[in-house]
Amino acid sequence: MKRAFVIVMLVAAVAAPAFAQGGGRGQGQAAAQQEAPPGMAISYAYRVTHARDAEFQKSLEGFKIFDDLYHVGVGTVSTWLIPTSAGLIMIDSSQEPYVDHVLDNIRNLGFDPKDVKIVLIVHGHLDHFGGAARIKQLSGARIGLSETDWKMVDDVAQGYRDKPQTAPPFNVVVQRGPNDLTLKDGDVITLGKTSIKVYITPGHTPGSASFEFTVHEAGKAYKAFLFGGPEPRDGVEGGKKFQASVVRVTQLEPDVQVGLLIHSYLAMSTYPSGGTFERMVKLQSRKPGEPNPFVDPASWQQWLVKLKSVAEKYIADETAKASSPTR
Ligand SMILES: [Zn+2]
Repeated sequence: MKRAFVIVMLVAAVAAPAFAQGGGRGQGQAAAQQEAPPGMAISYAYRVTHARDAEFQKSLEGFKIFDDLYHVGVGTVSTWLIPTSAGLIMIDSSQEPYVDHVLDNIRNLGFDPKDVKIVLIVHGHLDHFGGAARIKQLSGARIGLSETDWKMVDDVAQGYRDKPQTAPPFNVVVQRGPNDLTLKDGDVITLGKTSIKVYITPGHTPGSASFEFTVHEAGKAYKAFLFGGPEPRDGVEGGKKFQASVVRVTQLEPDVQVGLLIHSYLAMSTYPSGGTFERMVKLQSRKPGEPNPFVDPASWQQWLVKLKSVAEKYIADETAKASSPTR
């Protein structure tokens, strides 16, 4: 009952004229000029129009997607929880001021955050690694990033040491210790009976990490994939790396059944079957015997085609910018 009520509130909130016309506190100029793409209203509200509205972000409770996959994050950046036979794995750690909310989401689903053994981080941006220091302190979890993206984390920490006035008061940057993990392409991270395969897929950052693993429901297994850097950055060079990553994932993982996103909504790389929360609403209103809406291999295929064109357009735009005499 409670769950249904929460969804109704969310749907009502994003449909309200105040939101559509830019009444939200966190609304940026760009966001005010765009409407949510069709079928994306909830994820768009969390990721775009209300990205900085902390209370709105914290209105999202954790929810179960498969027997062994939960979403425990806030609305603007996802945090995933994978229970195993030997403790919990998290993918991404959120950032302040949301870490307490993420920990509460984990507890409210019946898990103890002290059982988190491994936190895999998709890339070295604060919205993904910002909560890692506190989770490590609480549970002793091993934190995993690629070598290049650990370097990005170290650089943020060094920047805060050099210029303490730039450090947000509540952020503690995770420090790499001897137990932590440096993720390499082809690694298999195992905890209990669960294994997660690592792909290093550069383009958004030099070492964005993607993860392939198996999820289960009603005795059936499905192949899931989380693309750790699904939008290009860093000019022509970053765009070309991204393009190569997309080609590689397309070749190696054509048969993914469950495509997962690091953000509920991606502006360039919108997911064909809806953002994370559109799929959540479908999941939570599903009738007995209906398929899980997160199992959707056709959308994965379409998304890979879309990512390819995102890469091409980005490279063309960045090439034009680089050669423009006015810049
Ligand atoms: Zn990022």
